[in-house]
Amino acid sequence: MSPPTLDVLNPATAEVVATVPAASAADVDAAVTRAAAAQRRWAAAAPADRARLLRRFAVVVDEHIEELAQLEVREAGHTIGNARWEAGNVRDLLDYSAGGAERLLGRQIPVAGGIDFTILEPLGVVGVIAPWNFPMPIAAWGLAPALAAGNAVLLKPAETTPLTALRLAELALEAGLPEGLFQVLPGEGPVAGSALVEHPGVAKIVFTGSTRTGKHIMTRCAERVKRLTLELGGKSPNIVFADADVEAAAAAAPMSFLDNAGQDCCARTRILVERTVYDRFLDLLVPAVAAVVVGDPADEKTQMGPLISAVQRDRVRALVDGGRGADGGRAILGTAPEGPGFWYPPTVLTGVAPEAPVAVEEVFGPVAVVLPFEDEQDALRLANATDYGLAGSVWTRDVGRALRVGQGLRAGNLSVNSHSSVRYSTPFGGYKQSGLGRELGPDALTAFTETKNVFISTEA
Ligand code: NAD
Repeated sequence: MSPPTLDVLNPATAEVVATVPAASAADVDAAVTRAAAAQRRWAAAAPADRARLLRRFAVVVDEHIEELAQLEVREAGHTIGNARWEAGNVRDLLDYSAGGAERLLGRQIPVAGGIDFTILEPLGVVGVIAPWNFPMPIAAWGLAPALAAGNAVLLKPAETTPLTALRLAELALEAGLPEGLFQVLPGEGPVAGSALVEHPGVAKIVFTGSTRTGKHIMTRCAERVKRLTLELGGKSPNIVFADADVEAAAAAAPMSFLDNAGQDCCARTRILVERTVYDRFLDLLVPAVAAVVVGDPADEKTQMGPLISAVQRDRVRALVDGGRGADGGRAILGTAPEGPGFWYPPTVLTGVAPEAPVAVEEVFGPVAVVLPFEDEQDALRLANATDYGLAGSVWTRDVGRALRVGQGLRAGNLSVNSHSSVRYSTPFGGYKQSGLGRELGPDALTAFTETKNVFISTEA
């Protein structure tokens, strides 16, 4: 029997662009052994040398931005502009994390009878299980700080998007990173992903993906008390108050849920609008959505490409068609190309019951619901009425209101008069069922360490 493989499809054309071997549990086991050996040497190296190598890796990534971006367009259907940003994000994260290798500071704590201090030690081998929606950045969010803190990394990319991950591993070797320190294991989730979760030699799992799979992995990590970071789904609100710059809010709203064809855990898919400006907002939103350029992701002018797969398109269609609640709502559609490829048009739903599945579940497609609200309290009640809590936006000119509503919002990433949520230098993560732990930002490295407390007696 020939070994299992994964076919990688171009989502814009449905054509196979590559076929890669799929890792088995035995492949994962062998990779863990290699990674453990590499990690011991890496952790023993001078922090400045680790930093230098990671910076060199960043430079090599920078020299290959266009190649990586074109690969992302082909395997994930991302627009070329987004794909270049994503490759740049890998470079920036490597650079930023490299600085941390020499600044992983413990603390000296005043105690009686001696000196007490803490040491931050690497965990060992870290397994990063990545999704298909942002294959490169999300891989790097685990990879870069984990390496900087002295760990080895085994990366399992999503079945549909292994190509940029494989190329990054080649670039790491080209930059001089030791063999075995960063390995990529493309494969099926329940096979290669599961083997990483189960393996006693893997000290931590960093998982990004669906809440369902995340919960499953969490129960399996619990059996071993394995360290775990979860970045899961979202159903983020975009709250527009009547005192906001309504024109600006309506102009910004389309790409806040259409970017990456809505396959973004931070997508602002629940647009909550104060009733007194609801009609005006919709009058502005509809032409703005219609103006979004949907088409060939390789074209520089394109703003939205296809969905990742036929499976994902079917999921989106089912939620939109079947989940609108009793009154069915009113759908305002943009346009999308016909023919091969996994296309779905920009979709805005109004008149939907606030508790309808499409209004509270993660669609992961170019779909938003617009709901009216009466006042601040009502806005917060609607905003918090999901199991998720990843991000949220508040549009208002009243700074006190922005802070009040922001404090009431049960979400990890708040934007005021903006939809920006992700920067490599600021923490990112979810409340409630959107996740566990934080990634990125100044503390990213500490999530890849254990704290050892040391007490030295000074008693004579
Ligand atoms: P998924 O959660 O099943 O897959 C994410 C990663 O987990 C992939 O690498 C997959 O191979 C791996 N995986 C799957 N089963 C596993 C297991 N048993 N053990 C270990 N690893 C396993 O996501 P999906 O099925 O590709 O997408 C389904 C839905 O998830 C989407 O519609 C969307 O709502 C959501 N999603 C969210 C994010 C996010 O960034 N929050 C990303 C991708 C998908």
